[in-house]
Amino acid sequence: MSLEVFVLGTSGMQPLPGRFLTSAMVRRNGELFLFDCGEGTQVSLKMLNLHWKRINRIFISHMHADHVTGLPGLLMLSSQVDRDEPLYIYGPERLREYIDANRKLLDMYINYEIRFVPTEPGIILETDEYSVEAVPLLHTKPCMGFVMKEKDRPGEFSVENAKALGIPCGPMWGMLQRGSDVTLEDGRVIHPDQVLGSPRKGVKFSYVTDTVYMGHIASHVAGSDLLLCEGMFTRDLSQDAFEKKHMTSTQAAMIARDGKVGKLGLIHYSPRYTDKELRQLKDEACEVFPETVLCKDRCSFELTNRD
Ligand SMILES: [Zn+2]
Ligand SMILES: [Zn+2]
Repeated sequence: MSLEVFVLGTSGMQPLPGRFLTSAMVRRNGELFLFDCGEGTQVSLKMLNLHWKRINRIFISHMHADHVTGLPGLLMLSSQVDRDEPLYIYGPERLREYIDANRKLLDMYINYEIRFVPTEPGIILETDEYSVEAVPLLHTKPCMGFVMKEKDRPGEFSVENAKALGIPCGPMWGMLQRGSDVTLEDGRVIHPDQVLGSPRKGVKFSYVTDTVYMGHIASHVAGSDLLLCEGMFTRDLSQDAFEKKHMTSTQAAMIARDGKVGKLGLIHYSPRYTDKELRQLKDEACEVFPETVLCKDRCSFELTNRD
């Protein structure tokens, strides 16, 4: 019940020396999930030495250059390894056109299957272990945030308790693990809570960029262990942020506070700020939500069950 988050870049609009475009990679149980892919994403992946040529799923928030221009190169280089699994790409409908046009114009050799999934608001991926939800944002182009949530699992099975209660090793153990009562030969009924520890809570990760501030975002990201959220501008530029359909770091902090998240990681900084000036973005956010981190390129977070 854990996942690792690697922030690959933190810049918005324009890559800077030492600050690549906003992108994040999640590693969970051997699977790799990429969120956005601007130019330079590959460089950070390489620096982190992640086995990125085997990325399983890519989620693209919207069709702005700073979020998609790294994709053709990444798709092409992923052919350097043999893979049996298809690569799933989630994004707005126009992303399909973008991928197809690039493949054609660049004569890309791709030795694996790409499955494109157009994103609609709601659950876009669900397995036995986790789900990914697309959250509608409001930007100058159709844009989605993403919320990845692990499912809660039953508590750990206590072999010791099972033996002490005289439950024979076999199918009954499995039934109890799956949450069903069992009846022993002597007529005693055993409830799962007699052999299971407390339930193990799944972790939750949210990725939100680019958007104006909207109250409903907090309800989608509520309870996240980590919220990566754009905090593009300082408070004095609120009007600019609104007109460009972006957020201030204070607004990101309001979402984090209202959603009672564990930690807020700021991303997608305006290139107008020098590295030193970014401090102000953090200070303003911390006034609203103290658990705020100013993400730096290639910083990482390990999310584990908070119980
Ligand atoms: Zn952007
Ligand atoms: Zn944008």
